[in-house]
Order: sequence, then C-alpha cells, then structure tokens
Amino acid sequence: MSESKSHRKLVRDALLNPNLQTALRRSARSYAAARRDVMQDFDFEAARAQVRAIKERCVSNMRALFERFKDEAEKVGAVVHEVKDGAEAAEIIARIARERGAKLLVKSKSMLTEEIDLNQRLSAYGFNVIETDLGERIIQLAGEKPSHFTMPAMHKTREQVAELFSRITGEPVSSDIPELVKIARQMLRQCFVEADIGLSGANIAIAESGTLVLVSNEGNARLVTTLPPVHIALVGYEKLVETLEDATSILKVLARSATGQKQTAYVSFITGPSRTTDIEKTLTLGVHGPTEVHIIFVDNGRMAMAADPELRQALYCIKCGACLNLCPVYNSVGGHAFSSGYMGGIGTVLSSYHGGLETVEDTLDLCSGCGTCTSVCPSRVDIPEMILHLRQRITARQGATVSRRLGTILIKHRSVLQSTAKLVRTVQPIVLRQDRTLGDIPIFSGLLAGKRLPGVAEKFLCEMMPSTSNHSGNPRVALFAGCLTNFVYPEIGLAIVDVLTRLGAAVIYPKQQSCCGAPALYSGDFTTAQKLAADVVETFNNSSVDYVVTGCPSCAVMLKYRFPNLLRGTHKSEYATALSRKVVDFSQLAATLLADPSKLSRFSTGYSVAYHSPCHQKHTLNTVQFSLDLIDAAGLAGVGAIEPDECCGFAGTYAFKQPAISASILDRKIESVLASKADIVATDCPGCIMQIRGGLVARDSSVRVFHTAQLLAGQIE
Ligand code: SF4
Ligand code: SF4
Repeated sequence: MSESKSHRKLVRDALLNPNLQTALRRSARSYAAARRDVMQDFDFEAARAQVRAIKERCVSNMRALFERFKDEAEKVGAVVHEVKDGAEAAEIIARIARERGAKLLVKSKSMLTEEIDLNQRLSAYGFNVIETDLGERIIQLAGEKPSHFTMPAMHKTREQVAELFSRITGEPVSSDIPELVKIARQMLRQCFVEADIGLSGANIAIAESGTLVLVSNEGNARLVTTLPPVHIALVGYEKLVETLEDATSILKVLARSATGQKQTAYVSFITGPSRTTDIEKTLTLGVHGPTEVHIIFVDNGRMAMAADPELRQALYCIKCGACLNLCPVYNSVGGHAFSSGYMGGIGTVLSSYHGGLETVEDTLDLCSGCGTCTSVCPSRVDIPEMILHLRQRITARQGATVSRRLGTILIKHRSVLQSTAKLVRTVQPIVLRQDRTLGDIPIFSGLLAGKRLPGVAEKFLCEMMPSTSNHSGNPRVALFAGCLTNFVYPEIGLAIVDVLTRLGAAVIYPKQQSCCGAPALYSGDFTTAQKLAADVVETFNNSSVDYVVTGCPSCAVMLKYRFPNLLRGTHKSEYATALSRKVVDFSQLAATLLADPSKLSRFSTGYSVAYHSPCHQKHTLNTVQFSLDLIDAAGLAGVGAIEPDECCGFAGTYAFKQPAISASILDRKIESVLASKADIVATDCPGCIMQIRGGLVARDSSVRVFHTAQLLAGQIE
C-alpha cells in the first residue's frame, strides 16, 4: 500500500491552495458553532444510540424491507425499479425520458447520483440535466465534482462564486452572498417550470407506507419533485427503514449533525404521484404534482457490503457530513483530495465497495485515526476501525512497502529496537542543536517542516528503572512506558512513578516490555501487531499487579481495547482480556488514588494552563476530565481545554507518513494554543508533547508543554 505521486501532488496542491484554505476555515468555524448550539439541551448520545439500533436492524433486513416498500409504493401508483449499477439506472431513466419526449431534466442534490456519474451518463444519452441545489449548480457550472456531502461547493469562496457567475452572466457580480443567491434563483426559476422530469435522491425510504423522505433547505427539492410531470428518485437500499417512527428518529439527528439546525426548512414526505378524488370521489393522478413517480433502487455494491461484517456499518451512514466538518484532515485538504468520489474517511470506506478496493489505495492513508468522526457521528459509525480493516486487506493483497517493512523489523523485536535507539544516541550528537532538538537533516525536511523534533534521551527509562518496586504499597501497579516515553521522554515515566508512589502505590517496571504494536496495526500489519500484543500480554500477566498504567493514551487503547481483538481465537485470548481489565491511563489512576485533593500542593506561581486532549484519551478512553480535575486540584487551571479541541496532527506514525497534512493540522493547533494565552500546555500523550512542543519551539514561543504527570510530580504530599 503506497500513495501514488499524483495523489501526493493533489494533497500538496490542496494544502497550498489559498482559496480552498480560506473556504475550509470559514466553513469549519461556522459549522462548529452551529453544532455546539443545536446540541445543547439535546440528548445526542441517546438519540444516536436509537439511530444506530434502527440502522442495524434495517440494514440486516434490507431485502425484506425493499419488498415491503415496493408493495406499498406500487399500491399508491409509484413504479419501483431495481438496478445493479449506474449504467442500468441511466438506461431506465433514458428510456422513460425518451418515451415521454423529455428534453430538460432538473435535479436536486443526491450523493448517489454522483456515485454513479448519472449526469455524465444521461448526457451521453443526449439529455440535459440541470442541477438546482445552489452548491451543485455552482460546481456544475465550474465543471467540478462536489467536495462535501451536504455542501458540495464548500471548497469555493464567495469571491470565486462571484467570478464564476460573472463569467456565466457576462455581467459584473459582487461577492455579496445574498446577491449571489438571487442570481442563482433567477437562473434556475424557468428551468423548474420547463422541466419534463425531476430527478432526486431520498434521505429515507419508509417501507410500511412506500414513502420517500427528502430534506432540504433551499426548497429546490420540493420544486424538482412537484413541478415536472414525472419524478424519478434514485435510492440506495440502505435508506430503507421500517416505520415512520424510525424515520422520525433519523430526522431528529440529521439536520442537527448536517448543518447545526433542529430541522431543515423543508422535510418532504412523498407517497406516490400527486392525486385527487375531489370530483365524484374518482381517483385521478397528477394534479399539481407529477403524474408519474418512479423509484429506482441502486445496488452498486451495497448488498455485498451488507454481508461484510467488518464494513457493514458504513451502510449505517446517513450522509450528514458531520464527520467531514470536524475531521482535521478534511479541514486541511478538503474533499477533492479524496480522489475516490465520496469524501472523508467514510467516503473511503464506501468507495471501496462502490468502486473497488483499488480505487481507495491513495486515500486510505489520509485518515489519521483520531476518532473525531466516530464521536460526532449520529449513527456511531466507527470509521477509523473500518479504515484499519481496509489497510489490512490492501497489505494482505499487495504486501507492505519497503519503508513499512523496515519499520516492522525495527519494532518487532525489543532487542532490535533498543539497539537501534542506542545507535541513534551514539551518532545523533552530530545533528543535535544545543537545545537537544534535531538540526536540519535534508532527508527529514518534510517531517521537520514547521516543528523541531527532539533527539533520543541520553539515558532511556528502561536503563533507569529497577524492575521491582523498592517499597511496598497498595495498589501494585506496573508501568507500561511506550516507546516515546522510554527512548525520548524518560522524565515522563519518572514523573508517573513519582506521582503514583506518593499516592501510595507500589510501581514496578517490567523490563521485558516491548512496543505496543500501534505503528504496525495502524499501517495494516496485523501479523506484527498480533505478535507484539502477545509479547506484551505475556510480560504483564507475569507481573501480578492490580493495575497496568500508561502515560500514553494510544498505548492504553492498544492494551485495553485492541489486544483482546488481536488475540481473539489464540491461546493468549483469555490473558489479553485479563490484562485489558487492569489497564488504566495515568490521569484516571492518579485521580482515583487521590481521594483527598488536599494531598496535592497547589502551585502559587499563577501559571495558566491550557489542556490539549489527546485524541485517544478524548474519543476512546473518555478520561480527559480526570486530567482537568488533577490540574485544577493543583491550582493550575485558568484556561481549560484549548478550543477548538482538535487533533494536533501527530497521531502516532501519521506525522511521518503524511508530514505535510500533519504540519497543516499543527499550524491550526499552534494558532489556538497562542490564542488561549496560556503559559503552559498540559496533555497526557508523549506524541502530542513532541508535536506541540516542536511547533512552539520552531516558532520561538515561550509557551511550555508538559505531561500532566510532570506537572504533578513532586507536588503531592
Ligand atoms: S459517517 Fe456518520 S457523521 Fe459521517 S456522514 Fe455518515 S452519518 Fe454523518
Ligand atoms: S479518524 Fe480522524 S482523520 Fe480519520 S476520518 Fe475520522 S476524523 Fe478524519
């Protein structure tokens, strides 16, 4: 699995495109504020649990729901078709259009029609399709593809839209947004009236009544589905739900997640063609709305995806786009860098079925695995988990790249890793600056862009720690250091031991510990990850302790959640589960042991501390509050979490695999750190420390970055 040169260029161009960067920043800011407001006083967790349950039930029952939908829709006069792909869908539409002598087709926004290239296919049949959603119309006029599920022209600034409209109308156009909207309205009005066929998608299809549900804000979907005499809707099978109540549950989260609204301006329920019985109670179709409604269900890989236990949950997606809006990578490169059609992490997964695994090879490595998407998804779709499965599939099919194979050799055996670290320690003085950061090394110029990275430590943690605790205490705790703490930041490990010991624990350091395997797993190398999981499980199960603590949330997630899966079905499975129960991250354990907050000395220096939440701590472990409480108890609070509290761009090996995107995410993080006016950034992850400290040092900032344990070390009486 390796990214092509052309895709690297696409990403680089996106990062250097000032219009795109402006558009992304403007949109991200306004969406985040709207979502925050609309989620207040709304039980999002309960609502999304309900939606998830509905989608699980309905996706596992798609065939039966389709039959019921067809039955009901045909009872009310709709015609229901089934097609396997875009070619068949276009053929049916072309036939309907030809038979009715249709010339002009108007269309409302639908990602499914983008997926199957419907406009291009219909144009090959000689039909003129006019997009009527403003964003879709903008990109149609510009000859581009959508860059977002719900905001297709999100990559364009108002200035670019004005320029485009000016070119189309031949008149000067101001970049005043209401003015631009007015021009679009004038351009499209007549099309609605003259159109012979209206094409739409559907957000939901209700089986019990054969009803289509369409949500929109502009009103164009209503005009498209009511003014022309024929309405043709294209629907994916995954849009089927059983009842009106199911649909209502989805509607409650859809607009909130998509645009930060409680509901969109229009929600249309369409059950068959327009009708009347006003004259002599005689049913007549086609009054003010269409006489004919055709509903085309498109497979295009959906049935196969539903049968795939690892990727089925991609069909639970309701295409709200929340995961794109808050994805740090999407907010750096925009939607077109996901060259496979659908955008973002979820787009990569969907495209692997709609277009084939080979179509997503380039985009698989764009995901940093931060988990933000899963935490905001109204259907709780675990995108990073599916990305991992896809990486494993590609690696299994093609083998690992040379650089990944080298990485694997390095981490697979503890002795090799330690020898390499010692070798680096010996030779690094020739490139180290006085502040112990690496000097300019041409082959690492990409990696070092925008930050200064440290060399390895003069003495590793494993060389400093005795293997047994020198005092008896309760509870007994084993420290899992992780590679960065061991080789680069041993002071973090020492601080953890210091704090926990002062809180009464007996801390041991099992000397045989190796890498947790995260770099291998996140690169798709399941075999190496499994081998390392087995090594760690064996080492720590021999240590008979109450807790296994780590100061790295990514390691904690590996030990706690990934090891049981990696070792399922092996003879170590039971031990992995036993270890998982004991794993706890530093802040949670320290906060739990600190029953009496007065044990913690309060700082009197008046430092203000801003907290950066590491992604795995925030989205998987859910232990950020423990860190904030500890910092608060130490009298160091004052700023709280850094807003926006997003990824720093380190993400394990991501900073090495995607240095340019990582640097762009870091830029935003440093901006928000500086805006917070904090003296100190606290965080609980050595990787985040490396990234944020590196960014601040490169900018000559006086803001310092510490692990929470370092702030507390020596402060507990
Ligand atoms: S994966 Fe979730 S957040 Fe992303 S578009 Fe689908 S439903 Fe929305
Ligand atoms: S895990 Fe993070 S980087 Fe990957 S798709 Fe989700 S939000 Fe984006």
